[in-house]
Amino acid sequence: MAGITLSLDLSKLAKPEAEKQEEVIERELIIIGGGPAGMTAGIYAGRAEVKPLILIGQAFGGQAATTSEMENYPGFPEGIGGMALAEQMAAQAARFGAETAFEEVTSVDLGVYPFLLKTYGATYRAKALIICTGTSPRRLGVPGESKFIGRGVSFCATCDGYFYKDKRVVVVGGGDSALDEGLYLTRFASEVLIVHRRDQLRATPILQKRAMANPKMRFIWNTVVEEILGEDVVTGVRVRNVQSGEQSVIPCDGLFVYIGLIPNTQLFKGQLALDENGYIITDKRQHTSVPGVFAAGDVQDPYFRQVVIAAGSGAAAAIEAVRFLAEKAYEEAGKG
Ligand code: NAP
Repeated sequence: MAGITLSLDLSKLAKPEAEKQEEVIERELIIIGGGPAGMTAGIYAGRAEVKPLILIGQAFGGQAATTSEMENYPGFPEGIGGMALAEQMAAQAARFGAETAFEEVTSVDLGVYPFLLKTYGATYRAKALIICTGTSPRRLGVPGESKFIGRGVSFCATCDGYFYKDKRVVVVGGGDSALDEGLYLTRFASEVLIVHRRDQLRATPILQKRAMANPKMRFIWNTVVEEILGEDVVTGVRVRNVQSGEQSVIPCDGLFVYIGLIPNTQLFKGQLALDENGYIITDKRQHTSVPGVFAAGDVQDPYFRQVVIAAGSGAAAAIEAVRFLAEKAYEEAGKG
């Protein structure tokens, strides 16, 4: 009887998500995070022919990529945009064989070896790990903040500044980020109001000088934002003077929040030693409390948080990870 032959190669069909999760991909070295630390680790490990895999969550380039203009990264006397620098680093890592994947790590198990990592689409085992998950902007935690994200509340002047042409914006914070990004916003906005909880800025003198000299910038001292107002979009902020207790409303079209950073270490709680603020504790050679796990960049640096330092620590972490892998291979060869 003539039958119908299906010439279907089942292996070529897309696998259901659940099955994909079961497939375990073995790697020598996985780097989590695609900011300056992760990319530099990728360049060094790639050049050492370890073929690292860099897992980038949602934020390519990390916090650095959200910086409008970087004036203090060596080698660029005229300055370079944060995203442009991130792209150059990624291209350099790729040149040396580093692979990158836009996959967010959802869980890690550092209690087994090789270490186990899960993303939404896959499961990995890695013989060495470099954590470069960086930091995220701290939120104000006031009514209206979550509701108006993308509709007037922003944590990234470089990304959103353009939308505030000839508009009035409020920037919260008194550090380098608030002034740097506030100055960037003066390119577009008609007025930039810096609302700071004290009467002294934390920012470096050069930025203070520039901000004070900018005719579009104004400072509102000893003041905190208590509520973000509006119907569909931001129309103002309710503020309180911390000395007099007096409340008032500042009409504005946008609010940019720059009140510091928090380390992205939720995945590692209970598995790695963290300090009291949640930063990963590393030694001078970027080793964490678990052998074979290294950390670099802002996730382990509560002090400097500079791109050049993040990049340097990424290089150090990669050198150490490559050394660790070589020692492991030597041990394993001895056993065989
Ligand atoms: P930061 O230096 O920690 O400053 C945070 C600012 O927000 C401080 O002025 C702080 O006030 C204020 N703040 C904190 N919590 C607040 C709250 N709940 N409500 C209101 N205000 C609050 O953070 P950053 O400016 O993001 O800078 C982070 C790091 O990156 C720093 O090391 C900085 O030097 C570096 N960075 C460097 C550059 C550069 O070199 N060009 C640019 C950007 C950032 P107090 O002052 O009262 O504590």
